[in-house]
Amino acid sequence: MLLSRLFVPITKDLPSDAKIKSHQLMLRSGMIRQSSAGIYSWLPLGFKIMKKIEQIVREEQNNIGAQEMLMPTIQSAEIWKESGRYKDYGDEMLRIKDRQGREMLYGPTNEELITEIFRSSVKSYKSLPQLLYHIQWKFRDEMRPRFGVMRCREFFMKDAYSFDLDEYSAKTSYNKMFFAYLKTFERLSLKAIPMAADTGPIGGDLSHEFIILADTGESKIYADKKIFEINLKKFEFSKSSLEDMRKEFSSFYAVTDEKFVKKDFDKKVSKANQIITTGIEVGHIFYFGDKYSKPLNCMIDSKEGKKTSIKMGSYGIGVSRLVGAIIEAKYLNNVMKWPKSISPYDVVIIPNISKNNIENLNKAEKVYNDLKKQNVDALLDDVDENMSAKFKKHDLLGIPYQIIIGSKSSGDKFEFKEVGEESQILKLNEIKDKLKK
Ligand code: ATP
Ligand code: MG
Repeated sequence: MLLSRLFVPITKDLPSDAKIKSHQLMLRSGMIRQSSAGIYSWLPLGFKIMKKIEQIVREEQNNIGAQEMLMPTIQSAEIWKESGRYKDYGDEMLRIKDRQGREMLYGPTNEELITEIFRSSVKSYKSLPQLLYHIQWKFRDEMRPRFGVMRCREFFMKDAYSFDLDEYSAKTSYNKMFFAYLKTFERLSLKAIPMAADTGPIGGDLSHEFIILADTGESKIYADKKIFEINLKKFEFSKSSLEDMRKEFSSFYAVTDEKFVKKDFDKKVSKANQIITTGIEVGHIFYFGDKYSKPLNCMIDSKEGKKTSIKMGSYGIGVSRLVGAIIEAKYLNNVMKWPKSISPYDVVIIPNISKNNIENLNKAEKVYNDLKKQNVDALLDDVDENMSAKFKKHDLLGIPYQIIIGSKSSGDKFEFKEVGEESQILKLNEIKDKLKK
């Protein structure tokens, strides 16, 4: 892609409510544009990054055997009346009437709808267990939308639902998701810590929030430093290993303020290992048994021919929130560096074309075409600007690798730089090898 053709409206003007760095960076680098309070349009750069995050989330869901589907954004109020949440959800739910006067709503979550689908199609224990998910827009009329895409009203979420015959097997489903979440966040270069959480209005007794540490996070957290040292690699994808994994994580103190008890914290964690800080919730998993299957009458025949209510769990990841959360974690000293797995481009080529230097532009185009042939997704900065303006702009765009075509690049050698490190002079083939890794 040529930068001069890319729709990326970089701006210096920031609204006064853009207080945290991710919100500022996303507006300045033209990733998003607010359309009304807590509702955003995703412009090409932001959208491309979010889609890459979505794809990683999807692959890790598929890896544990979850099946993708798609439920609508608009739901009927009927099933929410059956579960009792039509009233309980309160003002956060956006309620709509259609032309026939039927009560509808824009889904804030999908427990009711998926339970309704399940009860009408599954009758026997033989069809269990099942893990289903979709990645879809949600709407919650948050009291105070803020921090850009981190707490907005319309947001993109992966929500999965598990269906099991009994509590024992439901815990296996829960553990699989626990594993998928750790893998997902690892691929996003994030250290997300599972923390024992309150189950809130969804209810139930087994729940973890996945939290990344960040100064601007809204969750207060208390944790044992040692939880960061657990090596995921030693766990395999088998029932017993997954249970060991969850137990090992649970053996270290790590809670949000709702569950914090100072006496326990001091008893279980030595002063030197205590972490007291803030974090951003990027995912949340719940086991809630028959909280929805019971009122919605989602029953199946057990082996013994008895009618039993299905045991369920639900599992959310804030896909759009993750874009902001990753910036909070990676934007340091006014320089952004996207993790390679989700960078909008693999590399940016930056030729010095001030003073009409056609030779550098030609060279850059040759490199660009060469990389394209090798399926390297490169961005060519063909904008007529001086180098210092270019570098400032790329501090915002955050592409992790740069090929700088200026005085240091001569013959078949080029200046190659990984953001945050010293540049090197390399042959194009050597650069390709590095990029392919
Ligand atoms: P929070 O405590 O932040 O309001 P929640 O407990 O209401 O979150 P869940 O219902 O568990 O959130 O939703 C799953 C995930 O969706 C959250 O972990 C978060 O990443 C994301 N999410 C929730 N609310 C919002 C929002 N208003 N804007 C963006 N993402 C959100
Ligand atoms: Mg909430």
